[in-house]
Order: sequence, then C-alpha cells, then structure tokens
Amino acid sequence: MRDPSAGPRVLLRRLRELMAEPLEPQDRLDRIVRQIAQNMVAEVCSFYVLRSDGVLELYATEGLNPGAVHLAQLKMGQGLVGTIAAGARPLSLSDAQSHPAFTYLPETGEEIYHSFLGVPILRAGRTLGVLVVQNKAQRNYRDDELEALETTAMVLAEMIATGDLKKVTRPGLELDLSRSITVEGDAYSDGIGLGHAVLHEPRIVVTELLNDDIDAELARLEESLDSLRISIDDMLSRRDVSMEGEHRAVLEAYRMFAHDRGWVRKLEEAIRNGLTAEAAVEKVQSDMRARMMHMTDPYLRERLHDFDDLANRLLRQLTGFNAKMQQENFPNSAIIVARAMGAAELLDYDRPKIRGLVLEEGSVTSHVVIVARAMGIPVVGQAAGIVSMTENGDSIISDGDEGQIHLRPVADLQDAYAEKVRFSAKRQEQFRALRAVEPVTRDGTKITLQMNAGLLVDLPQLEESGASGVGLFRTELQFMIASTMPKVEEQERFYRNVLKQSGGKPVTFRALDIGGDKVIPYFRAANEENPALGWRAVRLALDRPGIMRTQLRALLRATAGTELKLMFPMVAEIAEFRAARALISKEVSHLSRFGYDLPRKIQVGAMLEVPSLMWQLDELMVEADFVSVGSNDLFQFTLAADRGNARVSNRFDPLGRTFLRVLRQIVEAADARNTPVTLCGEMAGRPLPAMALLGLGYRSISMSPAAIGPVKSMLLALDVGKLRDVMLPALDDMEATYTVRELLSDFADANGIPL
Ligand code: PEP
Ligand code: MG
Repeated sequence: MRDPSAGPRVLLRRLRELMAEPLEPQDRLDRIVRQIAQNMVAEVCSFYVLRSDGVLELYATEGLNPGAVHLAQLKMGQGLVGTIAAGARPLSLSDAQSHPAFTYLPETGEEIYHSFLGVPILRAGRTLGVLVVQNKAQRNYRDDELEALETTAMVLAEMIATGDLKKVTRPGLELDLSRSITVEGDAYSDGIGLGHAVLHEPRIVVTELLNDDIDAELARLEESLDSLRISIDDMLSRRDVSMEGEHRAVLEAYRMFAHDRGWVRKLEEAIRNGLTAEAAVEKVQSDMRARMMHMTDPYLRERLHDFDDLANRLLRQLTGFNAKMQQENFPNSAIIVARAMGAAELLDYDRPKIRGLVLEEGSVTSHVVIVARAMGIPVVGQAAGIVSMTENGDSIISDGDEGQIHLRPVADLQDAYAEKVRFSAKRQEQFRALRAVEPVTRDGTKITLQMNAGLLVDLPQLEESGASGVGLFRTELQFMIASTMPKVEEQERFYRNVLKQSGGKPVTFRALDIGGDKVIPYFRAANEENPALGWRAVRLALDRPGIMRTQLRALLRATAGTELKLMFPMVAEIAEFRAARALISKEVSHLSRFGYDLPRKIQVGAMLEVPSLMWQLDELMVEADFVSVGSNDLFQFTLAADRGNARVSNRFDPLGRTFLRVLRQIVEAADARNTPVTLCGEMAGRPLPAMALLGLGYRSISMSPAAIGPVKSMLLALDVGKLRDVMLPALDDMEATYTVRELLSDFADANGIPL
C-alpha cells in the first residue's frame, strides 16, 4: 500500500538538498518550484511573495510563462492568490475559472489550467506569501496533498525570513517582512528608547525542519508534552497561584489545551509528513493563528494567546532553550517586547542595557509598569499585535512620550529620534553637573528638594539626582509587587534596607495607601462604584488595624536607634489622624514591653489630600508634626476631576487661581504655626508649577528623581521675592484677563529663568 507521507518526505529531503547547494538565488527558487511540481504531479507550481506595499509578486514558477516572473502582481485580496493571502487560508478548487475571485493575468498563460490548490506561506501567524500548484485536468486535491503543500510552504517561509530573497528583489522594493510599521499604544512611562527588540518569551526559530526518523520525533514530542503537562500542574499547585482567580483560570486553560487530543493529533500528523517535532509545533500553531487572527470575539482571541504561549513553552521544552543563552546574546540597547510580564521578570534583565519596554497588554497601574517607571525605563503599553510583528533583533523605537512604537523604522525617522535622544542626554548631562550645587534661589532662599520613591531600585537615584532625602516613600508599591502579604520580618528587612541604601539621608515613609486604583492582588476588597472615594488608605487601616499594626511594628523596629518619619495618607478628619497616631503609641508600648529598642525620635505627619482638612487647618497644624500636601489627590477632589480619566484630568489647570488659593491657604496656616510643610504631588516636578509653589511660599517639595535637575536649574535663576510681588496680587484678581500660568511664563521669560 502507498504510504501517503512518502511523497512529502521525499520532497522535503530534496528541498533540503537544494537549500544547501551553492546556487544563485533565482536558480534555487526555479529549481524548488520545479521540484514541488514534479513531486505533486502538478503541471504548475508558483511562488508569490508579499511585498511591503501589499502586492504579491510572482517570484518563481514552473509551468506558467517564465517571462511573467517578477512582473505578474496581485494586490492583497485580489484574485485567488490575493484571497488566500488576505484570509490566510488555503483554497482548493477543481475549476478555478468559475471562482468569483478569479482574475486573469494574460502574461501568465494560466487559462488552460483548471484545478488549483494554493496555501498561504506563514510565519508566526503572518502571511509572507502564497504557494500554488495547478493542473490542466479538473481534479479535487486530497487532504494529504494540501497538508504536503502547507509543509512545503514552511520551508519557503524560512527562506523568506532569513533574507535569502533580498538578492532577487528588485531595487527600491521591499518584502513585507521587513516593512516598517508604526503601532499606536498608550504612554505609560516617559522617555524614548532606541535599540533592538528582545522578545521576552522568544519564539524559538526552528531551523531543523525535516526529520530523519519519524518514530524518534514522535517519541520526543510525547516526552516534551509530558514535561509540559507536569510543569503546568506544578504551577497550578504553587501556593501563590492557587489563590488567584485570573491567573488560575489561564493555567487551567493551558492544562486543558495540553491534553487536547485534536491538537496532539495534528502535531503527530505533521511529524508523519516529515517535519521535526519543533517544526510540527510551529506549523500547527501558525495555521491556527492565521485562522483565528480574524476573529473578533475577545474570548476566543484571548484563548489564541493562551495557545500561543503554550506552543512557545512546548518549543522551549523541545529545543532545551534556556534563558542564559538569551542573556548572552543580549543587545547593548535592548527594547523588551512582551505580551505581558511580571515585575520580577523585568528585574531579572541586565538593567543598564534596557532602553525600553513594550507591552501588548498592561495598564499604568500594573506592577511591571510601576517598576519600570521606578527604574526610569520608557514604557508603551496596549500595543496591539506587536509581539507577532516583531522578530528578535529588529530595530525598534519605543516612544514613551507619545505612546508609539516604530518597528524597523526608516533611516530618516531613526536619525530624527537619535537626535532627540542625544539632545535630552545632553540636558541630563547639564543637570548632573548641578548635582552638588546647593538649591538656593538667586535672592538667597534655601529650598529643600527631595525625591519620591517606593522601591529599592529607586534609591541609587538619591545619590545621582542630588536630592536631599526621600520626601515620599510609597510603601504600598512593595506590597503591590509581592505575591502574598509580606510578613513583619520581611517588611522590617525591607525598611532597614531602604534606610541603609539612603546612606543617612532622611526618608519619610508613608503608611500603606491601598484601595482605589492601588490594588493588592491578595487583598481583595469588595467592588466599589467609586473606589477613589471608597474604603481605602487610612480608612481601611483603621477598620482593619491588623495590617497597619504589622507595618508600624516593622517600621519601628527598622528605625530603632534613629528617627522614624511617618505620615498617613487620605486623612479626612482630625479624629482619623488621632486614631492612627494612637496605633503607633500602642505598638511602641508593645515593643518596649518585649524589650525592643525604639526609635530615638518619631515624627508623625498627615498628608493633606482630602479637601475637608482645609476647614481643620488650625487643629491639623497643631497636632501633626509635619504636613505633606498630596496635590494629585487634593486637586482631583477639589475640582471633582478623576486623575486617571484623561477626558477630565486636564480639564482644569492646577495653576488656575482656584487651586493656587487652596495651596496658599495651606502654606500660610503651616507658617503661622511653624509646622513643616512639603508638597509631594506631580506639580512639584515640573519647573513652571514648581516655580509657582515657591512663589506661594513652599520651601520644601518632593518629586520624581528625574525632575530634580530641571527644577533646580529653574530655582537657581529665580528671584523669589520678585516673583511673590507680582504673583500674589494676581491670585486675588478674579477680573483679570490673563491667567496665572501666562503671568508665570512671562515672568520666567523676562527674567531668563529656564523652564
Ligand atoms: C498625591 O496624591 O499627590 C500623592 C503624592 O500621592 P499618590 O500620588 O501616591 O496618591
Ligand atoms: Mg495621594
């Protein structure tokens, strides 16, 4: 009996020989199509390649008019070939001319061929071209012939991807695979990264396509599937996973797929047709991707992602890929491209070489984004389809200012960006030179510039930026990137480490500010309609004192013998501040009862970020050891404009008279009682608003480390007395036709203040 896989196996072996022979590229292509035609007993075999302008060009043919090579062209969606490419689906017809999409190209002389079998040439779900066989007689192609042609198409995909066709591509034209693409995403972390793409979970490039021994390959597949299933079971039984809803659901789906008989059968079939186990995985996955790409059902698309991940894991099992190899070939300027990623995984990379992070998913508040921002890495998120469009090593620009990604950018664009990066590096250089310069205004007022932080990775910046201390340490970040609630010892170790790395500069810790948009996966509060106004921060801490007391204990122990500076977020009533302070006293007596050393001094502050405190300013300034204005929240609540909602967050100006009056009232109340006041919201980090704050009377502000240089360079040139003289009266002039922002910017211009 005829072995249906013998044909494809012979063909694949012949193709392998042809690939290895020292031939001119066009000659090689001609022989390849001849070989395919012979093997498939077809009169015609044609090979079309997709160009970057969306045109499918005939690159080689056996049977059609040889003069049509490089001349016959079809647009995506045009004719049978264009239909196959656009739908990424094969087409099998016994009478091609009667198909509605049939387009007659006179130069090819194909009118005498009736039956037609065409398959897309796919790589990672992308269509790179089309492979066709034709016969004169009207006949129906069998399934095994279709399968054989698809397998052959993989070999051609590899040829296209490795750049073999460049030499036969006419000057000025480009293949689709190297097309430059711009993808719009969301800007999550400022800055521009220029470099080469590193796929976080790299697709394994399968180079050994053809097997020598079917049984041995089947056994390898079986073995790898077994280890894959075991590794999924392991992940499912891990403690941190079993608690989490979503993560668990994904893994459950993986487990189901890994046992899916249909999938395994397709893999085995591809191996029987002559592919290696790796190539079989790639082929089956590519087919599935191409077919599912066009689906709009979000559930199914999500499952496709899961299947992709699973296939990639299987490939890594089969090839024994290890992450070390990837690290060794890590480019000097790397832009990491991932579908999604955990924060810890980002920390595993060699930080100095990372220029950017691009995520297909993610949100501004996802942990990896928080960590990346802390590390000063530009991030673009929600970049649809970026993973499948990127090849490892592609040149790429990630623009975290505009939320754009330019993949394989043209030279002009690359030059423009390189210039931009050089310019900002030069400015950074100038700011670095100011590091050791005292922040004193031109008229001799000393200003305290501190930085905001939340992770250990932030702390080296204390030295680099020249900040005098940490004005806001957001302790919740550490809780957000952990997978379980950190125990008291862990927290203590962490805070000790923070203090050690701060090298004696003061650190103001903020007690846990969770709830609202700050989600901790292992602490699920009920769904709230208005989380920003909900059960959060100090409210939650007072209702569930266990969490807060653990944190206070850890902080007290970590600062034994030195000074603890601690503030509570989202205080709305003085009573809450008193209750929170009472918790500290409780912990102090608890610790001293058990013989622990205590801090030498404890300073307890309140954040002023809920407007109700404006009518309790006198009491607040007496009771709190210090006050820190959280202008991000204070602004959102004062103007009732959600800080996370782009449609309203820029609707009002923090430099408008209304909000500036609020800020002036706070600093005046603080000065009247000699209570230290700082402002630590985003306003403090931009030179113009920071100048306004100094004009109002603030003498201490805290900002992101990158902002210290620009703000310092502004204040060194500022005569703050002169500014007050023009600015303060303007706040009271509601009839004025000019805005305070305009006034400030004119003042800066007129006085040569860099902004
Ligand atoms: C603020 O609200 O201004 C602030 C500094 O705190 P966060 O941004 O963490 O809410
Ligand atoms: Mg806040």
